[in-house]
Amino acid sequence: MKRVMIDLDETICTGGYLEAVNRYLHTNYKENEIEHYYVEDVMNPEEKERFLDYFYKNVNIYKEAKIIPDSLRVIEALSHHYDIYITTAFVDKRRVVESAIMAQYKYQWIVENMPYIDPKKIVLTGSKDIVMCEIKIDDKVANLKGYGEIKLLLDQPHNQKFTFEELEILGIRRVYDWVQIESILLGSEEK
Ligand SMILES: [Mg+2]
Repeated sequence: MKRVMIDLDETICTGGYLEAVNRYLHTNYKENEIEHYYVEDVMNPEEKERFLDYFYKNVNIYKEAKIIPDSLRVIEALSHHYDIYITTAFVDKRRVVESAIMAQYKYQWIVENMPYIDPKKIVLTGSKDIVMCEIKIDDKVANLKGYGEIKLLLDQPHNQKFTFEELEILGIRRVYDWVQIESILLGSEEK
């Protein structure tokens, strides 16, 4: 059985973080207006420091995270054919101690929403590059570099800057939704 590494944020679920930033700043940013990987990069440095203090004390983004269409259904279907590892980074180097709470929030969300995933296959890390899975699905290009036979980049506003040619050199294929992932991994393209 081939192993599949699947990212959590902006791959399986999304949001929560943008809502927290908007509440904090009293703004109304929309997802497609943010081209930064880190939403808080819309703030100036001092403001960002204050936000991070507030964020780790007060916010569990997974309470209002939205499920990306078809992700849970397709992952459950994949779990009958592949060995699935939900692999998610939680370490924020700007707040090394405080960011530990994210490991708990992420673990709880996965356990509650994906009962078909073995809790022992929830990989909470800061180093996705050591994960040796044949297939990788992520929305961040850096997490798809290195080991892997099939590397799928889920299209998101923050990864638009990578061209088809750049991705091709890295062996990465851009995919637009989970139905497409389903057809690649369970359909005629691959079994
Ligand atoms: Mg992600």
